[in-house]
Amino acid sequence: TREVHLASRPQGAPTPENFRIVETEIPELADGEVLVANSVMSVDPYMRGRMNDVKSYVPPFAIDAPLDGGAVGTVIASRSDDLAVGTSVLHRLGWREHAVLEASSATAVDTSAAADSAYLGVLGMPGITAYAGLLVAGEMREGDTVFVSGAAGAVGSLVGQIARLSGAARVIGSAGSAEKVARLGELGFDAAFDYHDGSVTEQLAAAAPDGIDVYFDNVGGDHLEAAIANLNTDGRVAMCGAIAQYNSTEPPCAPRNLALAIGKRLTLRGFIVGKYADQVREEFQQRMTGWIAADEIRWDETVREGLDAAPQAFMDMLTGANTGKMLVRL
Ligand code: NDP
Repeated sequence: TREVHLASRPQGAPTPENFRIVETEIPELADGEVLVANSVMSVDPYMRGRMNDVKSYVPPFAIDAPLDGGAVGTVIASRSDDLAVGTSVLHRLGWREHAVLEASSATAVDTSAAADSAYLGVLGMPGITAYAGLLVAGEMREGDTVFVSGAAGAVGSLVGQIARLSGAARVIGSAGSAEKVARLGELGFDAAFDYHDGSVTEQLAAAAPDGIDVYFDNVGGDHLEAAIANLNTDGRVAMCGAIAQYNSTEPPCAPRNLALAIGKRLTLRGFIVGKYADQVREEFQQRMTGWIAADEIRWDETVREGLDAAPQAFMDMLTGANTGKMLVRL
């Protein structure tokens, strides 16, 4: 079987030399363990941070060891009474064709209710991040005008749709291409713009003549600065990510207007999805499956084929080649 190792730590943007595909033997199962044939794996922005040798809310990846991350697959051998052969499971040992893990660290998923990949996106970590980030961290209320950056991505595309379904007065998104902006219109965003087309602050002001009440930040930098300029009094910012600076080797300088948060009495709240996951999981699953069943929410996937394509899929996700969730089909 094969797995992807971190060969070296990226300096700036990752390159193919930072990754190595390694042939390895599948180990014997110990008591309580299962063998999973992975069918689909996730590449996520947070993995870039784990490639640096710095402590964060998740430990760094080790050099010459396999990467890991979300994956869904089928149990093909089992030494556990809890997970039978044939069960589809969600687990944390992606970046490899086969995974050996404790049955207790895998979650059975129903792939007849939704495709395996949905558990890595709309029904999984990105979905719950969008839901809790908007409604709990961002305290979105009915009638709010909501702005989300990275709006055509896995999290952002769901934030916009959940905002609409939760009674937002106006939903605005920014993304990195004309195609993505057009897609946001189809997803029900009221306004969208390409951040390459000019000043983010000015484009946001034009899209939100009455200002914004909630900003869901996936990008940081100029987007956060633009949001602060356009936030109304008592506005809220859910600080989810700052992908504009994940590859940078210099500390960022924007937002230069952070002090405006004081006079506007803004709430800028950083959050990690794990903080809210248990709190909202049941409600999230109920509402999201309801929206899906009623055809009220849509999700895009950009899918690459085979483990060899995984490093490039990750690198391309960081530069915006994905619309919706970036996945690798194994
Ligand atoms: P996406 O599917 O949104 O993929 C990343 C996207 O980022 C790319 O498609 C690209 O789209 C955009 N991007 C890359 N560079 C820049 C840039 N310089 N400026 C603006 N946009 C850029 O990823 P996710 O939905 O998985 O994650 C979105 C954000 O949420 C990330 O910041 C991530 O770290 C964060 N996150 C945080 C969690 C938490 O618990 N706090 C949990 C999950 C995600 P484009 O073409 O539009 O540029």
